[in-house]
Amino acid sequence: MSLHHIFQEDAYGDQPVAENFWHRSFSKQALGEVLSDEQSCEVAVVGGGYTGLSAALKLAQQGVDVVVLDAQHIGWGASGRNGGFCCLGGTIADDADLIDRYGEADARRYFYAERAAIDLVAELLEQNSIDADVVSKGETVLAHKARRVDQLKDTAADIQKRYGISCSFHDKDELAELGMTASGLASGLTIPIGFALHPYKYARGLAEVVKAQGGRFYEQTTVLGITSAADGQYVLKARAGQLRAQKVLLATNGYSSENMPEWMAGKYLPVQSNILMSRVLSDEELKRQGWFSNQMAYDTRTLLHYFRLLPDNRMLFGMRGSVSATSHARERMRAVARRDFERMFPEWAKVETPDFWSGLACLTHKFVPFAGQVPNTQGIYAAFGYHGNGVAMATYAGQLVAAEILGEATKLPYPNFMKVAPTEFPFRTMRRHLLALSYTWFELKDRLF
Ligand SMILES: Cc1cc2nc3c(=O)[nH]c(=O)nc-3n(C[C@H](O)[C@H](O)[C@H](O)COP(=O)(O)OP(=O)(O)OC[C@H]3O[C@@H](n4cnc5c(N)ncnc54)[C@H](O)[C@@H]3O)c2cc1C
Repeated sequence: MSLHHIFQEDAYGDQPVAENFWHRSFSKQALGEVLSDEQSCEVAVVGGGYTGLSAALKLAQQGVDVVVLDAQHIGWGASGRNGGFCCLGGTIADDADLIDRYGEADARRYFYAERAAIDLVAELLEQNSIDADVVSKGETVLAHKARRVDQLKDTAADIQKRYGISCSFHDKDELAELGMTASGLASGLTIPIGFALHPYKYARGLAEVVKAQGGRFYEQTTVLGITSAADGQYVLKARAGQLRAQKVLLATNGYSSENMPEWMAGKYLPVQSNILMSRVLSDEELKRQGWFSNQMAYDTRTLLHYFRLLPDNRMLFGMRGSVSATSHARERMRAVARRDFERMFPEWAKVETPDFWSGLACLTHKFVPFAGQVPNTQGIYAAFGYHGNGVAMATYAGQLVAAEILGEATKLPYPNFMKVAPTEFPFRTMRRHLLALSYTWFELKDRLF
């Protein structure tokens, strides 16, 4: 039995995270053993990222015997390697499109969900005393050329319409005063919602709370298949053991496979995102470039750059990854990220960027997340597809799907479209390669318009 993955096997091993600063800067102490015998539980959660942990937390708090299994270690996936932007998002469909497709009421439910997701993360941090190095007051969008200033105005209008909240515009001089000077920027817009955190501290903090509530973990345990037993239970098979469970949650997002279970085939599209990180910058270096704000920021490109200065003055610089996960492709993307870093921050052209890592986020065909029951099953659930914005939305989806598992009506906004199982991508076996065509078009668009 083996898993059929969409990317080359390199993407599912440790090479892409060898230089992950987050893993290096916080304890990776094991939270669980390898599953090596027969065990049982009420709910088995496959995947130890924000989705799985947040669901496990809610279940454990209600007294459910819950077990989280991860092929590597807890927080190893995207949840332990992202930019730490806890912000609005989860879909890449625009507001008008969501209203057209799902109607005003359900689209509005989603807008409230995006906001509630951020509040949920803030609450979890506070209630459980998780210290995750929180910084940034909202997020700042930066027009990467004068032609994109209208895009900022549209974003501000959407936020006003969604939440009745005003955003602040900044011209170039004001951006400089705020400590956000980078090459080619025309202006900026601050959306006063969200914050930034240390993603791995957050994931590990959640896991500790799950453990304290009685949840159990198995690490280095890949679930290779799920079968139904005669007594109605599910049996999750791993290499050296198996787990019997009444219910199962699939929380594997970008690390999902086509055959675990077969229902997943074609329903998700993993996309790589890369992060380059500088060494600690001195006050003099920050001043010279004119970037000394801890505000989380991104530019108006479709294939955007996202960046923020960490509390210890390392600069994090993220961008899309390649459609290939070979070590050759990774080195090529490191060079592209370095080139773009130097273009945006020319005063740091000689500053070393020792850390570079990548990970898999996840798209769905209709560009909206899913959190619900797998059709035609009695007790299999799944939550995935946050479109590169899962710090808040994966946490949220985990809680939504946990409420479904408990058979509880959630008080959280829960759009109906999030309960509908994703349809398959067309040309599903080619979907990763077709992404390359979209990237070429988006790059051209970002350059020309
Ligand atoms: C480089 C990068 C930067 C990003 N930046 C941001 C950001 O700044 N803000 C934001 O909101 N989002 C960001 N994201 C997206 C965000 O990290 C994800 O949406 C979120 O972490 C998804 O969480 P998850 O729990 O669903 O999946 P993951 O955290 O990916 O966890 C899935 C887990 O499933 C496990 N698994 C898979 N298959 C099996 C199996 N068969 N058996 C056992 N275990 C299995 C994997 O080992 C993995 O640990 C970024 C993503 C990347 C890659």
